Amino acid sequence: MQTDSLARTAFAPKQARWREQLSAAVRKPARLLEQLGLDPLGEPADSHFPTLVPQAFIARMQPGQRRDPLLLQVLPDRAESIAAAGYSDDPVGDRASAKGPGILHKYEGRALLVTTGACAVHCRYCFRQAFPYTSQRAGADRWRAALDYIADDPSIEEVILSGGDPLMLPTRRLRELTDALASIAHLRRIRIHTRMPVILPDRITNNLLDWVGSIPWPVVFVVHANHANEFDEHVDDAILRLRRRGAHVLNQAVLLAGINDSATALGALMRRGFEAGALPYYLHLLDPVSGAQRFETDAARLGNLMDSLRRELSGYLVPRLVREVAGEPYKLPVL
Ligand SMILES: *Cc1c(COP(=O)(O)O)cnc(C)c1O
Ligand code: SF4
Repeated sequence: MQTDSLARTAFAPKQARWREQLSAAVRKPARLLEQLGLDPLGEPADSHFPTLVPQAFIARMQPGQRRDPLLLQVLPDRAESIAAAGYSDDPVGDRASAKGPGILHKYEGRALLVTTGACAVHCRYCFRQAFPYTSQRAGADRWRAALDYIADDPSIEEVILSGGDPLMLPTRRLRELTDALASIAHLRRIRIHTRMPVILPDRITNNLLDWVGSIPWPVVFVVHANHANEFDEHVDDAILRLRRRGAHVLNQAVLLAGINDSATALGALMRRGFEAGALPYYLHLLDPVSGAQRFETDAARLGNLMDSLRRELSGYLVPRLVREVAGEPYKLPVL
């Protein structure tokens, strides 16, 4: 059954494939567990942040492994409804940094556009899961105010397309946005924060690559993989194609208890990411967003972890361990 549908999609044009894959994504925890040969009994019903996992990502999970590092990132848990001290709905002060619908200006020289609230996957640790997207998104007609804000502030050199995941937008919409940005003379770089090359690599269509090639400034893609198992030949190919169009590709990860908080897992992630063509960028400490407390790593272990990475990895493979604190002028280095 599954092989049949894979064989069929292999011959469909890339263009249509990612949208089909998205509509076929698993939206029920019990279905995800059953597919992996795990007992779905007693799994919590969905919360305010519904389950969403495309088959392309499930294909990289190990059947029968309840502690699979990819499964744990996307499977809801009963603990999500329990309040925890220090955890909130706006852990990084995004609401205070909003400069209008869809624009966050927190750091010097960089403005972040919240292009959409949608993602191709729902990561249980995500700090944006409680973000008020419907009021804050720079959707369709709303880009005008965000563009005016950027045009009026010559200190902004770099625009970051974020979300949600900006590659959820049709390529045509992305092109409209960068075409409009192109008239702003003080911009020097564009950055795209997306998990799509990892989650749904078929999103990197020729049409998308043509758009990347049309952008008049250096382009940086910051992708997001937390574990070496997230890479496969399709992800490698998506990243390679971006790099062939001249994009720089970096990977950021979140330190997640039971998923990647060991020197072995992190070392493997950095090596594997490099093989795919992505240099390590940030390793974020978990943002204390309500419901995510099960992912918090014991702070006492961080020193040893970073020490091990620095010993065993080439300097450029060591990620920057950072923590975001509301009101600080940059993401704070930890150790
Ligand atoms: C993380 C972030 C940035 C980018 O920060 P860098 O340190 O340059 O990666 C910009 N704006 C906002 C609102 C951010 O959260
Ligand atoms: S914004 Fe990134 S981390 Fe958060 S749910 Fe979307 S893909 Fe996952």
